[in-house]
Amino acid sequence: MTMNSNEKVLYNTVLLFGAPGSGKGTWGKILGMIPGFYHLSTGEMFRMLDTESELGMKVMENMRKGELVEDNIVFDLWQRHMSNAMLTGRFRPHKDTLVLDGFPRTARQAEMLKSTALVKAIILLDCADRELLIARLRKRAVLELRADDASEQIVRHRFTVYDREIQNNLAQFPQGLIERIDVSAPPIHILALLSSALDSHLK
Ligand code: AMP
Repeated sequence: MTMNSNEKVLYNTVLLFGAPGSGKGTWGKILGMIPGFYHLSTGEMFRMLDTESELGMKVMENMRKGELVEDNIVFDLWQRHMSNAMLTGRFRPHKDTLVLDGFPRTARQAEMLKSTALVKAIILLDCADRELLIARLRKRAVLELRADDASEQIVRHRFTVYDREIQNNLAQFPQGLIERIDVSAPPIHILALLSSALDSHLK
């Protein structure tokens, strides 16, 4: 168990980074099924908001355009979600590893996260072939009816936003924590690489 300077427990955390369509949600869900891991996707957290509430409308407006949600809103909602997960026993901070998918997205979010999370590993789901990712998103748009996957213009804007933020975001963490995995490989191979990376970083 690790504490910060205010004697608060720091959550052992794995970050999943990657461009839209790189499989953060899929691999995050798979990890979340392993005992001792708790998966949280901030995108999923936003999609659960009541779209008729003031907050829900504000968040949706950003998501529909492929823009990021404001850092303060993300951090506030994330903290509320974590409190609830701990109160209900879904996340046990002394025992479990938190798997964050899609958070942090900016250098400022990464900075905010440090007061609460001890990052043990960063999995960067990498793919040089953007057209492959776009094809995956097109499929997901039909299967999951996600508004931000529906238009190719919005999808391309989300790549621009990702490319703009990723280097500064990664630079907030020790480089030795970063494991790049090529997501154009067969899924079973990705699973093997992911398991091996986490096994060595979480020891
Ligand atoms: P995702 O499900 O991770 O693809 O996220 C979908 C959308 O939710 C993004 O395009 C953003 O609009 C918003 N979003 C998710 N996570 C964050 C975050 N950490 N910071 C800002 N916006 C976010």
